[in-house]
Amino acid sequence: MIRTPGDVKTYRKELREALQNTFLRQTLDNFAAAYRESRAKAFEGMDLESLIAEIASRKDSALPRLDELLAEFKRNAESVGAVIHEAATAQEANEIIARIAREGGVRKVIKSKSMTAEETFLNDHLEREGLQVTETDLGEWIIQLRREGPSHMVMPAIHLSRHQVAELFARVTGEPMDPDDIEKMVKVARRTLRRAYLEADMGVSGANFAIADSGTLGLVTNEGNARLVTTLPRIHVALVGLDKLVPDLETALTILKALPRNATGQAISTYVTWITGAVECAAAPSGRKELHIVFLDNGRRALAKNPVFSQALRCVRCGACANVCPIYRLVGGHNYGHVYIGAIGLILTAFYHGVENARALVLNCLNCQACKAVCPAGIDLPHLIKNATRHVLDREGRRPLKNVLLRTVLKDRKLFHFLLRKAYLAQKPLAGDEPLLRHLPLFFDKAHGFRSLPVVNPRPLRDRWDRVRPDEKAPRMRVALFGGCLVDFVYPEQAESVLPILEKHAVAVDYPMDQTCCGLPALMAAEKETARDVAVQNIRAFEDSGADWILTLCASCGSHLKENYPKLLGDDPAWKERLQAFTGKVIDLSSFLVKVLKIQPEDFRGTGAKTAYHAPCHLCRGLKVVEEPRKLLDIAGFQYVPAPDEDVCCGFGGSYSLEFPEISAELLKRKLDHVEAAGAELLVTDCPGCVLQLRGGMDKRGGRVRVCHIGEAVGEGLKD
Ligand code: SF4
Ligand code: SF4
Repeated sequence: MIRTPGDVKTYRKELREALQNTFLRQTLDNFAAAYRESRAKAFEGMDLESLIAEIASRKDSALPRLDELLAEFKRNAESVGAVIHEAATAQEANEIIARIAREGGVRKVIKSKSMTAEETFLNDHLEREGLQVTETDLGEWIIQLRREGPSHMVMPAIHLSRHQVAELFARVTGEPMDPDDIEKMVKVARRTLRRAYLEADMGVSGANFAIADSGTLGLVTNEGNARLVTTLPRIHVALVGLDKLVPDLETALTILKALPRNATGQAISTYVTWITGAVECAAAPSGRKELHIVFLDNGRRALAKNPVFSQALRCVRCGACANVCPIYRLVGGHNYGHVYIGAIGLILTAFYHGVENARALVLNCLNCQACKAVCPAGIDLPHLIKNATRHVLDREGRRPLKNVLLRTVLKDRKLFHFLLRKAYLAQKPLAGDEPLLRHLPLFFDKAHGFRSLPVVNPRPLRDRWDRVRPDEKAPRMRVALFGGCLVDFVYPEQAESVLPILEKHAVAVDYPMDQTCCGLPALMAAEKETARDVAVQNIRAFEDSGADWILTLCASCGSHLKENYPKLLGDDPAWKERLQAFTGKVIDLSSFLVKVLKIQPEDFRGTGAKTAYHAPCHLCRGLKVVEEPRKLLDIAGFQYVPAPDEDVCCGFGGSYSLEFPEISAELLKRKLDHVEAAGAELLVTDCPGCVLQLRGGMDKRGGRVRVCHIGEAVGEGLKD
């Protein structure tokens, strides 16, 4: 049985161990790079957005009809000889399958890969019943021999090297194995498995689709083993989650357009198998196969009715949310999921395998949105992960101290700002007159020392505003600045540096003083009520500004204001119009300068500095602003030097970097390695949080690349 630590301390220890596994990291990195390319090629020329929307809508419309679809499937499948079973729980499903085996006089079982069978721990159950079970997917067979769970939903043994596999095969077969002779290892597997196929009395499979209007099962595989499993033995049992029910073939084919492309970058899997009813079978005494289909609920009906989490049931198990996740890439699936792996695993674990297995897992998310960007079913995975955190906390009935503090402090702007000012005084003895805190006090875990930290500014932007605000008598438009905590209290110079550009373009700028933290830290800590409360304060603060635009230099704030405020307030009709008026005006700096002000190269001196760019997660995926920052660099006369993985998270993630410093440090290291290798003199980004992380990391490693906000770089290059 798999166990995932419930406490963060033990979990962090396991993560640290995983980070030592350089083979794993290299393998997952190579795979991620190849996957990115092959996925892009596979979807070339297709309208992916419409396809995602169609899959989401088809799956969503099936969810409220699960029982209706099940009844229809049952009627149709029974009419062609299938026997339908229903299991409310994993245990019940396992017992049904064991009973079918007992009644059928089964001794040997072969299996094709099924995440649903992993979910119920079917193999363990059948083995306890005295049955011999053999997995036939090569990767599944390997991990079965090692007595471990899959580390990826599609490639279960991706964490293993050929040396480990050779050692394993040598132990199992008693034959020496050469790790470089992969062909021989495949032959050994084939020989062993072929015997298992021929000797098996029962084949167990999962299914990708259960098509209601024909009673047909659909299976999507690459190795052909599922065909042998479902056709050779006299009994076939399919274990199918209720979420696999679809009304018709058209829906299955729509999903099939995306599933292999998104899973492995293939236009179509090597084998797509459709099974309707109990067919002829030479191995069966009656001449006809026994076909049993076991539908598993195990919380799916409840999930389908849950207004927040029902979208998790759209999942088609392509595994892509793991492929692109920067944390998965570092630590692998055994440390990034329980049975289900990757972003969807963080969510489903709490529901299918208990909060004790999900407690630490749900915290291990940077909210980088890479998973959401590739999900073919359009599942808002980061949003659900935050809600899963809340679900876990609610189920446990207690809140960590951090949450209690966030609740108390964030709701009260004056108290919050008072404490931020006091933080400056507290840091003073440690930092002296330096802008960076290079050595943390001893009570800090040494894992946090991977970056220098900025000191809180003695004069926040709000205190300087009267002095620095542009005095525009005949403005062509009005802008209200949304500072966010970092620009206001740590980096006021970032905002100040763009004011001359705005002034030059006759833009009147206001800084509404009642604004406060955007509320993202509260949402990240699953404190939804606090996040909602803060959202209301901010909307009110900007309502009287008369601004045409609400401009922010912080990608995280911008994305939160625009994307999450509607999720927090959208169900309240009283807020609908005020919310739209607010979110409709929010804009990031690069888009504002390039698309609204249409700034021109003549305005800039053009330094020609070799400049690398880090794309903040909340800008490129949250706000979907991709080209504008690069255009801005070009207009302002910088020499843009591309670096690999520009859009991969820098590891900041707000409080994430405090909770999981080892992961944060490794992501930061990779980012800075890439930037230095690209030969950059300057590294710019559009988020003060990323500046904090990147500048702190560069300082700590003694690097020579200057790190600054894109606004600072562009503002400094403005002609007088
Ligand atoms: S959540 Fe989306 S990306 Fe992840 S496995 Fe499911 S369908 Fe694929
Ligand atoms: S939001 Fe980012 S860190 Fe979190 S699960 Fe998705 S890809 Fe991984």
